[in-house]
Amino acid sequence: MTLSQLTAERQVAVRAVRDAARTCRAIREAFRPDQAETKSDSSPVTVADYASQALISLALAEAFPDDSIMGEETAASLLDQPAGPLAAAVVEHVGGVRPDADLERICWALDRCGHAGGTEGRHWTLDPVDGTKGFLRNQQYAVALALIEAGQVVLGVLACPNLPADPANPASSIGSLFVAERGGGAWQLPLDAGGDDDSFSAKSGRRIRVADISEPSQASYVESYESAHSSHDHASEIAEALGITRPSRRMDSQTKYAVVARGEAEIYLRLPNGSWVEQVWDHAAGSLLVTEAGGRVSDVRGDALDFSAGRRLERNRGVVVAPAAIHAEVLAATARVLEG
Ligand code: AMP
Ligand code: MG
Repeated sequence: MTLSQLTAERQVAVRAVRDAARTCRAIREAFRPDQAETKSDSSPVTVADYASQALISLALAEAFPDDSIMGEETAASLLDQPAGPLAAAVVEHVGGVRPDADLERICWALDRCGHAGGTEGRHWTLDPVDGTKGFLRNQQYAVALALIEAGQVVLGVLACPNLPADPANPASSIGSLFVAERGGGAWQLPLDAGGDDDSFSAKSGRRIRVADISEPSQASYVESYESAHSSHDHASEIAEALGITRPSRRMDSQTKYAVVARGEAEIYLRLPNGSWVEQVWDHAAGSLLVTEAGGRVSDVRGDALDFSAGRRLERNRGVVVAPAAIHAEVLAATARVLEG
């Protein structure tokens, strides 16, 4: 194994993401409509989002008390209705991992995730449930945690609780965990660890690589399930321009980065549909995973994703992901379609 730089960080992150992903699953299995609400930006948030962020924030606070965190959620709506069913369910599910955490401690954990980002020092970035719409449909979603140092992603841990472990066998065990470290490669582990907390031994992880492809027409591509998040029309025009005949796979969350990283699909297109500016936690872990697996990640203009511009990727537009050997061709087709 070549991963060695960030041993303590990796162990804590893997364990925290595993605990959060298992908690999300437990919530999903017994899901009730009163465990979700709609945020002021009209996007959904659930008990799972709050429980996952609280668990990971608590684990990081204990292990690395000096590190800041940039997380998607805040405690506002739990503090508004502390006696409501949502707050009760969050306390119950966090309690499955941390029996001593009361609502006050959970709200503290949630509200310490307001880091503004930038170029200074190091901080964690967390999407506690990426693809909440996929979670609600019981399709793909992810728990995504990354460590950013001086604006560069150095560690990424991504749990995909509904992704089959073996892409060649969709009936294989459901749930996959991915870990990437800058300069250390990209790895897939079982989501359920059998008591091995480090879980980074040669026997439990396998190194993953993007597909070995030199001809874009042979590729398949993934895109958002939600057309509001990425233009399906532009994607099919780009596919046509590249001679791609295989149908797209639509899925929520950074699971798209994971399926490209392990060679299950070749291309991930995220094509702006409006003025949306991407958020750091939606791309940090996934983009390192693909880069470490031999892929290339840029925005639609070919610029590298800049994780130092605040809580959003203010200097980028959209995302284009492909194996290094075909990325330039995919980018050129993207430019032609978006400019045309
Ligand atoms: P995905 O599941 O890949 O479609 O992406 C889910 C993420 O899309 C969410 O976490 C949101 O942060 C983000 N999102 C919300 N609205 C938009 C939008 N209009 N365009 C692109 N992404 C969006
Ligand atoms: Mg997200």
